[in-house]
Amino acid sequence: MTSSARPLLNRRLAGFGTTIFAEMSALALRTGSINLGQGFPDTDGPEEVREAAVRALRDGRGNQYPPGPGIPELRTAIAAHQQRRYGLSVDPDTEVLVTAGATEAIAASLLALLEPGDEVVALEPYYDSYAACVAMAGATRVPVTLRPREGRFHLDLDELRDAVTDRTRLLLVNTPHNPTGTVLTREELAAIAELAVERDLLVVTDEVYEHLVFDDAAHVPLATFPGMRDRTVTISSAGKTFSFTGWKVGWVTGTPELVTAVRSAKQYLTYVSAGPFQYAVAEALALPESYFDDFRAAHRRKRDLLGDGLRSAGFEVYQPRGTYFITTDIASFGEKDAYAFCRALPERCGVVAVPVSVFYDDPEAGRSQVRFAFCKRDDVLHEAVGRLRRLAA
Ligand SMILES: *Cc1c(COP(=O)(O)O)cnc(C)c1O
Repeated sequence: MTSSARPLLNRRLAGFGTTIFAEMSALALRTGSINLGQGFPDTDGPEEVREAAVRALRDGRGNQYPPGPGIPELRTAIAAHQQRRYGLSVDPDTEVLVTAGATEAIAASLLALLEPGDEVVALEPYYDSYAACVAMAGATRVPVTLRPREGRFHLDLDELRDAVTDRTRLLLVNTPHNPTGTVLTREELAAIAELAVERDLLVVTDEVYEHLVFDDAAHVPLATFPGMRDRTVTISSAGKTFSFTGWKVGWVTGTPELVTAVRSAKQYLTYVSAGPFQYAVAEALALPESYFDDFRAAHRRKRDLLGDGLRSAGFEVYQPRGTYFITTDIASFGEKDAYAFCRALPERCGVVAVPVSVFYDDPEAGRSQVRFAFCKRDDVLHEAVGRLRRLAA
């Protein structure tokens, strides 16, 4: 212990205590509640992908430091995926970087591309690591608030334009968007792209839910829009797409210049990670189209199961068109404080959710919003819905 009065946690990170997920998951454990707070699946991904990891480990592939940019097999598989799905050509040797999950990709991108004093425009509510990483880079975040209208969250393009100043260096975009479940439309993305080109901004885009889009929504990478390929760092990850969130295999694609910059930061964070899992994810990315179709269909069903349950329990539900989260509003119960509601929910009905209010800079904006994850087994969702109905009684 230091005897000085100076706080141990530095000023940049002051205010970033424990994440809400740690708090709410501990609450779930303590109360024996169903945890729909943290977004991790309760069923592992495909058996053949698990077996591929075991095989790599047994065959001695990846047990020692893999190459800095990632193993060639995985970089090639990532490039093939971008080409096949989106028509994006990326060179596996110079335009792909494997990271320790999307989390490291986000951190490395922001640490590499930002100077202290730069402004970052990001959509709020934020994924929780964004604000901390912008702070670690010494930059300033400028929120543009997604607001609910007609049952879904919308981006106000005028607000977005107004948020950009002469100090703005970078737009940080996330689509499909966690926690709101919004999938930015082609028109919204085109407007973001035009703004980035007009104001000469870099764009970091977090697309980890690219394979979880429902109904008539389609995921379109920002990098495919005119003028965007040269200024966009695209981030994705195996965790959500293949239900192996513990493996922490993510990646960055972009021009050689952008990837080299991100790698400069990344090499001093973890250097490399997840050797044997990189081999397995290379095989996962080459799974037949039916895997991705079934994955999407299963989650659409789960969305509807939980969404219908939440509606009948009395929540206002913002219908997600992507991700595996449902954001609700508790004003329909005559309640206003999502945090207090979430702390009391285990006692009231044995379910844990997270208050979306903690993901806003503007505490009023999300004050009565609560997020539920539906990436859980059907029997768990049925049980949760049964418990939540007690709120309606
Ligand atoms: C889960 C998640 C991440 C982190 O992905 P990892 O690959 O587990 O590091 C990043 N961004 C969003 C929006 C997420 O929901």
